[in-house]
Amino acid sequence: MHLSARSVEELSELTYECECGKRHGGFARLRFGRLSALSEEINVFVPLGKLVILASGETFLRCGSVLREALRRYKLLTALDVTDVSSLFAFDDGIAGVVALGTEAAELGRYFAGVRNLPCIAIPDVICSERLLGETVDVPLGGKRVVYPAPPPRLIYVDVSLLCGAAEAYGKICSWALSLLDLRFSPDDQPRCGELYELALSALGGLGWYESDGVQKIFESDFRLAYCAREGLERGAVRVLAEETGSDLFALVKLAKVYELFFRKGYARPYAAPDYVERAERAGVRPHPLFCRADAFYADFLRERRGYLAGVREILSRLPNMKRTYFQLGGKGVRVEGEALRRAVDLLPEKCGKGPLVWMREFGLLEGLCKGRCKS
Ligand SMILES: [Zn+2]
Repeated sequence: MHLSARSVEELSELTYECECGKRHGGFARLRFGRLSALSEEINVFVPLGKLVILASGETFLRCGSVLREALRRYKLLTALDVTDVSSLFAFDDGIAGVVALGTEAAELGRYFAGVRNLPCIAIPDVICSERLLGETVDVPLGGKRVVYPAPPPRLIYVDVSLLCGAAEAYGKICSWALSLLDLRFSPDDQPRCGELYELALSALGGLGWYESDGVQKIFESDFRLAYCAREGLERGAVRVLAEETGSDLFALVKLAKVYELFFRKGYARPYAAPDYVERAERAGVRPHPLFCRADAFYADFLRERRGYLAGVREILSRLPNMKRTYFQLGGKGVRVEGEALRRAVDLLPEKCGKGPLVWMREFGLLEGLCKGRCKS
């Protein structure tokens, strides 16, 4: 059975020998249930022994008593707001597992469990599976945030009533539509996985193409997409712009409009050849060694142009519905200043290296956009 036909529970623990040559998944177990039924699940992962409970502060206040009741059979409960990961190592030996209540705590738990080689059970309170499945965690150490590699939790236990962040997750799910369009049309010499592409597409379809189906559906779509990202499917320019501006939906709206303009009106201006070294310096990255303007590049563009335009227009036609659903879910408006946005878009090809923005740079359009202001 293909990946896209699996439930999220199956997907999470299945090891799948894929046609692309990779072995996908098999890294976590996902279960839905009430917090009060957690202790049966814990028995599977943690034989008798002490548990460390890490809790994001507000979430612990909301469900601390429920959690204590659910875990009453265990020897030790310690709940705390950790402000520095080094303090985790003050715990006694003999700890058999970590329970992390809240998404912030999940990253701490993954880090600590990874270093001590313990099972970690994460109970998320925000819909953001990237933070559960990502290769690294972002944790506080010595007054700074630092990034460490860490395995995913052994068990992800989801009590849907605890989840918030549906609007932001929904915006991110929507923004994948543009990432998938880029993946479909961008020239790319890496081997691609059709299974993951289908899985990501089905995660969008699971929302009835941008109609809200409630928190659990949003969680499931977000989880499928985080799985795809973990296994190598790239979000590309829309992810980079979202990181710079703090909003996935905003990044989708802006980039879709820039794309539409380009594919409708864009034409080659070979006299406006970009200065790659200067552009790379501005972006704070090394210049790519293989930049060239071969005829094949323009041939590719002409071949892909019609499909890209149709895809972007389909996304644009759905924007009003997406925005309405986003605000119904409690999403907040985001403003980004014109100059900051222009600069972000201008430097995206240097930061993500693929997709239509690379064409725009090659066509000299981005040089025109930033003319007269870039030397600062
Ligand atoms: Zn594959």
